[in-house]
Amino acid sequence: MPRKINLLGKRFYRLVVTGEAGRNKWGSALWACECDCGNVHVVPGGGLLSGATRSCGCLKKELATAWGAARMTTHGMAGTPEYLALGNAYQRCTNPKSRNYKNYGGRGIEFRFSSLGDAVIQVIAAIGSRPAGKTLDRVDNEGHYEAGNLRWATRSEQARNSRLRPNAAGRKGVTLDRRCRNKWIARIKLKGRQIHLGSFVDLDSAARAYDAAAVELHGEYACTNKMLGLLPDEPVRKQPQSVTLFAQEDTYNQLSN
Ligand SMILES: [Zn+2]
Repeated sequence: MPRKINLLGKRFYRLVVTGEAGRNKWGSALWACECDCGNVHVVPGGGLLSGATRSCGCLKKELATAWGAARMTTHGMAGTPEYLALGNAYQRCTNPKSRNYKNYGGRGIEFRFSSLGDAVIQVIAAIGSRPAGKTLDRVDNEGHYEAGNLRWATRSEQARNSRLRPNAAGRKGVTLDRRCRNKWIARIKLKGRQIHLGSFVDLDSAARAYDAAAVELHGEYACTNKMLGLLPDEPVRKQPQSVTLFAQEDTYNQLSN
């Protein structure tokens, strides 16, 4: 039987997993999900994890309607906020004459949809229609315009996710301590003020302190050193084998005493 992964409470597009629902006849774990439209839907976990199942079925119906509308006119979706947002992104990535090309296409950011129409449909399916006051943002700022890397965000949410400007440390939120040359200071900006997070002998520790504060303050909008690939994985703590040995020795001593 396939190993069961706990999906309880997780969101997959329009579905939020609310309970276990046994297994199907092939042994796949089934999950009860609540759809954003209010329907309850039971699905195998595999469909959720692969992205194949995104709603109770309501999404497919809406998309079919959107497709229908798109086919009826030359540019059925032209003029919608999603079409405009993606159209701008397309220009920034592909048109060297575009004002912002140097920051996008010019540095390798790609528009990874087969067409603008396809982009609109995929984006609405993945993150919904554009909420008022929000614009299209890439989750990973070094990543491409593609379904898994997009969200709607306000300007200030986007500013927090701004591109890393290399500094002396080469880490986000970390500077060299001017008074004490062999220490690194971690700082984070909050409402225009710099908050001191501590000083560290080790550069990576300072970067980790920044990351922890960024996640605390900005949640999913945080752009961390880890996300930017500037931090090695947490050092794996070796199993304290010697401790086990000592414990055994202690037991042995107690037994022999
Ligand atoms: Zn639904």
